[in-house]
Amino acid sequence: MEFDLIARHFTRATPGAVLGVGDDCALVSPTPGKQLAVTTDLLIEGRHFMPQDGPAGLGHKTAAVNLSDLAAMGATPRWATLQIALPAADDAWLAAYARGLFRMLDGHGCELVGGDTTRADVRTFGLTVIGEIDPGRALTRSGARPGEDVWVSGAIGSAALALAYRQGRLFMEQIHAAQVLPALYLPTPRVELGRALVGLASAAIDISDGLCADLGHILARSGVGAELDFAAVPVPEAARGYLHEAAAIEAVLAGGDDYELCFTAPAPQRAAIEAAAAAVGVRVTRIGTTRARAGLDVRDAQGKVMPVARTGYDHFAT
Ligand code: ADP
Ligand code: MG
Repeated sequence: MEFDLIARHFTRATPGAVLGVGDDCALVSPTPGKQLAVTTDLLIEGRHFMPQDGPAGLGHKTAAVNLSDLAAMGATPRWATLQIALPAADDAWLAAYARGLFRMLDGHGCELVGGDTTRADVRTFGLTVIGEIDPGRALTRSGARPGEDVWVSGAIGSAALALAYRQGRLFMEQIHAAQVLPALYLPTPRVELGRALVGLASAAIDISDGLCADLGHILARSGVGAELDFAAVPVPEAARGYLHEAAAIEAVLAGGDDYELCFTAPAPQRAAIEAAAAAVGVRVTRIGTTRARAGLDVRDAQGKVMPVARTGYDHFAT
């Protein structure tokens, strides 16, 4: 598409790259001895966001969901490439999108070094981010062992509660809804926490599809099971009065888009994990224990296993 559009909105100084936007390829020099962590996420209008969603929030989210994947590996963000498909080049819209995108990338030292821009009927944004990590140190999904603690960062269910409220599936007082709605539009990737957990956590994942579904990925890849204590799961303050509602329980256990980290760690790491989380200003909470037997049981305050209706979002489910 128009070169001046790219020049105007997506060309920045990239001191962390050898060559940034403008040539056929970007050139980057990894820090000697580091491994690269590479991830991509796609946001498509009508599927991942609504046509009326604001551009700055979309820019933020494009960056946040990708940085969250680096966070879940414990990697340090370095570079990104952006793929944009738009029906028309709306200058003011793109300026706001770029503002949201760069604010999030800049906040994590991630430089946009290239991309592709094309016309298409459906607005689509893809970002590829590249991070660095010491060899053999990445927090994979496969490292959990039986008898370890299961932890989460922040509060779980904010984004799904906001979505349920917005779609009229859950009644919430205005004041409570206002507290969870930002989670839907402005998720916070836990990049610093992920880095701080390297060497402490045995496995990690970011919660994009729902707590049970994403923890389920750790369990499956690690060949273990787990028990969760529902009462221990940290929920947003605003949600406390609604937890008797099935829609609210489902938001916490199966709702996606929170981008908090779920991770496992041996019990002797508890104090070190608390200290590492405190050092980066993020709350972490123990919510259960892994076990040798496969499967995931969530128990209520009476110790009864709770039914988990939906276990995460499946794009190809019919
Ligand atoms: P090519 O035909 O070689 O793919 P393009 O015209 O697509 O070149 O892009 C020109 C330059 O602008 C390249 O360096 C490319 O990486 C960069 N670029 C294109 N679109 C974007 C974008 N949305 N964000 C950042 N850089 C972009
Ligand atoms: Mg191109």
